[in-house]
Amino acid sequence: MNEEIETGITSGGAEGAFRDILSKDHARRGKPPVHFADMTQDERIQTAKALGLPKFRVKQLANHYFAHFDVNAEEFTDFPAAKRGAAAEAFFPTLITPMLQQKADQGMTVKTLWSLFDGSRIESVLMRYPNRATLCISSQVGCGMGCPFCATGKLGLTRNMSTGEILEQVRVAAAQMRDGEIAGGPGRLSNVVFMGMGEPMGNYRSVLSAVRQISAPAPEGFGISARNITVSTVGVVPGIRKLAAEGLPVRLAVSLHAPNDKLRDELVPMNRRFNTTQVLDAAHDYYLATKRRVSIEYALMRGINDQAIHARQLANRLNHYGDDWAHVNPIPLNPIEGSKWTASDPQDERTFLDILHRAGITATLRDTRGSDIDGACGQLAAKTMERHA
Ligand code: SF4
Repeated sequence: MNEEIETGITSGGAEGAFRDILSKDHARRGKPPVHFADMTQDERIQTAKALGLPKFRVKQLANHYFAHFDVNAEEFTDFPAAKRGAAAEAFFPTLITPMLQQKADQGMTVKTLWSLFDGSRIESVLMRYPNRATLCISSQVGCGMGCPFCATGKLGLTRNMSTGEILEQVRVAAAQMRDGEIAGGPGRLSNVVFMGMGEPMGNYRSVLSAVRQISAPAPEGFGISARNITVSTVGVVPGIRKLAAEGLPVRLAVSLHAPNDKLRDELVPMNRRFNTTQVLDAAHDYYLATKRRVSIEYALMRGINDQAIHARQLANRLNHYGDDWAHVNPIPLNPIEGSKWTASDPQDERTFLDILHRAGITATLRDTRGSDIDGACGQLAAKTMERHA
């Protein structure tokens, strides 16, 4: 296995190269224990064999994990009692442990702070709506992209998460939904978005393996349609192009946040590596390859990127590629305490949306689910980390 942090970003010469900003406690932390979800089918069979278990037992384990969201091998009654303990240890080590849970929106939004094997903290947010339940998950501990308005960006990148760590967030939420632990009674986890901590394209291999296992029908995966999975990126162009070539109908979300390079260079440092033209070209090619409309995420920051001129420029940039290929999600910024970046005036938000609509662009103000529970990405983890520091 590659020991280097996998960013998908090439160094690109002595100047202008983008490098992950590493957190101060970034260090070789060792690898998370290997989990069923991290293994290939062959590795699963070999691991089972080493425990004296025949091949068909692997299928049983997959069924427990993916169809029943169950990792408690001690209670697998279809499994030989003498092997349950060893199977639990070899296939289902505990990868994520809940540290803190916050609820909002009458219990329909639940944010969980998780501790990983090395004490790292990540978070996931489950949001229930009348006709769907969406889980927002993390793919890296911290984030190395350094956007100055973002709490996670302040943490820097500690490490990539393993496929098992990513998938466990999904399994737990799927079980919570099934068991009626979220307000609204039993239901089904229907959507997954990679918009928690981290830049998914910076951890491409694990993210892609997770996407495949989230979307494959049980018992190969959780059976959540790939169409209901969103992978977000701050604009890592090689990652967008790689994902387009996978032939999966996942939705792409691009965090644009600014309609021109001058402003975006400041808001999203990655722009100095891949500029707005390169990012929008890649996003539009993604649309052509997948026929899935691309989401353009745009955090509205008061007086910085939320004025009429920005909306008009954004509309022009998108319309340059044609109609109806992108959907803009302006997001009211959830400000970091004590920073100069703050949320837009509601009147400016409305004007911004109006201009986009009049230019024929579909745009909906993204709801700020969980904003009363530190819902901006990385904030919950950032706070507890400060307390632990
Ligand atoms: S806005 Fe997204 S890409 Fe930028 S630092 Fe925050 S988590 Fe990373």
